Amino acid sequence: MIFKGKDKDDNTFRDKVLLENLYHSIPSAIAITTPSGVVTMINSEFTKLFGYTMEEASGRLLNELVVPDDYMEEATRIDLLSSENMNKVRQTIRKDNKGNRIYISLVARGIFINNELVANLAIYSDISAERKKQLLQEILFNISTAAIKQYDLKEIYPTIVSEINKIWDTNNFFIALYNKDEDKLSLPFFADEKDSFADIPTEKTITGYVIKQNKSVLLKENDLKILEEEGEIDLIGTPCKVWMGVPLRVEGSIIGVMCLQDYNDENKFLMDDVYVLDFIANQVALSIQRRMMLDNLIIARQKAEEAAQSKQLFMSTMSHEIRTPLNEVIGITNLLMQGQPREDQMDFIKTLKFSGNHLLTLVNDVLDYNKMESGKIVFEQTQFNLSDFLEEIMRSYSFRSKAKNLSFDLNKDQFLPVEVIGDPIRLNQILSNLLSNALKFTNQGGIHVVVRELSRNGNQAKVEFTVTDTGIGIPKEMHTAIFDGFTQASADTTRQYGGTGLGLAICKKLIELQGGTIFIESEPGKGSSFRFAITLGVSEKSSLGQKAEIPENFTGLEGKRILIAEDNKINFFVANKFLTGWGVKVTHAENGQLALEKVRSENFDLILMDLQMPVMDGIEASRIIRESNDPMIKSIPIVALTAAIMSENHDKIESLHINDYVLKPFKPHDLFERILKHVR
Ligand code: ADP
Repeated sequence: MIFKGKDKDDNTFRDKVLLENLYHSIPSAIAITTPSGVVTMINSEFTKLFGYTMEEASGRLLNELVVPDDYMEEATRIDLLSSENMNKVRQTIRKDNKGNRIYISLVARGIFINNELVANLAIYSDISAERKKQLLQEILFNISTAAIKQYDLKEIYPTIVSEINKIWDTNNFFIALYNKDEDKLSLPFFADEKDSFADIPTEKTITGYVIKQNKSVLLKENDLKILEEEGEIDLIGTPCKVWMGVPLRVEGSIIGVMCLQDYNDENKFLMDDVYVLDFIANQVALSIQRRMMLDNLIIARQKAEEAAQSKQLFMSTMSHEIRTPLNEVIGITNLLMQGQPREDQMDFIKTLKFSGNHLLTLVNDVLDYNKMESGKIVFEQTQFNLSDFLEEIMRSYSFRSKAKNLSFDLNKDQFLPVEVIGDPIRLNQILSNLLSNALKFTNQGGIHVVVRELSRNGNQAKVEFTVTDTGIGIPKEMHTAIFDGFTQASADTTRQYGGTGLGLAICKKLIELQGGTIFIESEPGKGSSFRFAITLGVSEKSSLGQKAEIPENFTGLEGKRILIAEDNKINFFVANKFLTGWGVKVTHAENGQLALEKVRSENFDLILMDLQMPVMDGIEASRIIRESNDPMIKSIPIVALTAAIMSENHDKIESLHINDYVLKPFKPHDLFERILKHVR
């Protein structure tokens, strides 16, 4: 009883009782002090919140009772303001009689009578619950953000610890990850003031108990003792007063446990804390799961990329390996054709040559496709005569269409530029692919080719090519897929027509790499039309005259001295046969080194130089020749023999000033023309 009155009819007495009741039933902690801060009165809520009875508190400085050391400065400031009668709510931290910190809201004000400060009033409300809720939101957000941002799972742990530290003291905190197969615990994060553990077997640990029970636990010292007596756990390390552990669950199974313990106060954690930790654990588990999924995806992607690379490497190596003997087969076939075979033999040789060439196209396709996939393709910019180029293509395909009884015609726009700059080999490759398909998939009617200029911009002409046939056509749903590598319009295409499904994929890539697009219009049973446009440079200069006129009977090389630098015996054999047939005096060198020796001791009118040779390759040998001090040696015409389309070695060859090149397996006509053009 703090207010005293004379009797119950006394109004003042009644007011005092009323006030006293109000004072004790208000759900806030109230303290009244003298102007200098000595406690004179507290209400029962104050006792509940801070743990002091009226007897314990009375006569002591309020700040000493409830203000933690690190908040003393702030508390003094509040006292000063309240003595000036400022009525303001503040959110801050105070401590109870055991030193536990409590989040409170505080109203502090001075009480004045006749302008004189007679007392201070402090009203506290416990806001720990709201603060916790707010903190929890913050913590969950920060943990999930860290999990998304961090590349390495390990790097999330420090964030988890510092976030949890906002609610509880994490001096004794760990995360254990559970390996179900080995029944072991690993401790990716472990902080403890007393103990330290590395990886441990799950059995008989308190963590193992959480996993076995599959539920969150709050165990006091006594509970732990009972569990030990029952044989559920073996207590290792320093005994603690309270142990709180919650499982980390991913898709229903436990991947680990998160745990907090305290060595001093068994009331440090309450059941409420377990719920909160559980909530955080859910978020942590989700984050770990997301991270693991991401890691797995990254690993899967790396594996896929490695597999694709090794596939590419395998295909390139195999194709290169196949190409060498194939060149030999085709070379020998060419030789046989030259040797006036009997008519029945000629048929066999032609078939042999056709199959050889077909196989070579396939191998080159695979190589080309791989090269394009890995982005290793360079386009040449050479001048060529577009009319001649088209005539040449038409000539070879009209022959083949006649054999199938198909019509074949070319419609050339009269405004087409004659001399153009571009990559004739690649353009030939695109058109040949489209024309071969048209021929392959058409059995009646014919093939129609249209070439026209779409636009001209200075010396750049956009030229459109259309190849139309009246063949079997392609269903609409396959119009996109046929441009993918190794895809054909129907499952039995290979059986019926052969092919690998690479041709159109290569065409598309070649066109796109030159800035164009390929379009298709096709209907089953009616035919197909493929259309694309590429930009070509327009040249004023004529390329005519650059080409050597080839005499009908291969004359003009008689008595010339030519060095063939070639390591492959059969390739040499074939080239030698042709050259000696044309009256050339041939010398052979098996590698670049030997070729250099020959060049220094004899005079040659031209060198046919294989680019890939052991000991010293043709590129290196050519470089040394071109750097020679002897003008006779320095200026020897060099024609490279190469199995690859030039773009592979394009840069090197440009800088070497090799005069020309012939692709292996060489066509006799082609070889003759190149030699005649450059020979001394
Ligand atoms: P390949 O001819 O080696 O099978 P392509 O990539 O050149 O490979 O063609 C892919 C598929 O597209 C062919 O297998 C065929 O089913 C279809 N196709 C291509 N051109 C034509 C055409 N002119 N007429 C009908 N079908 C075609």
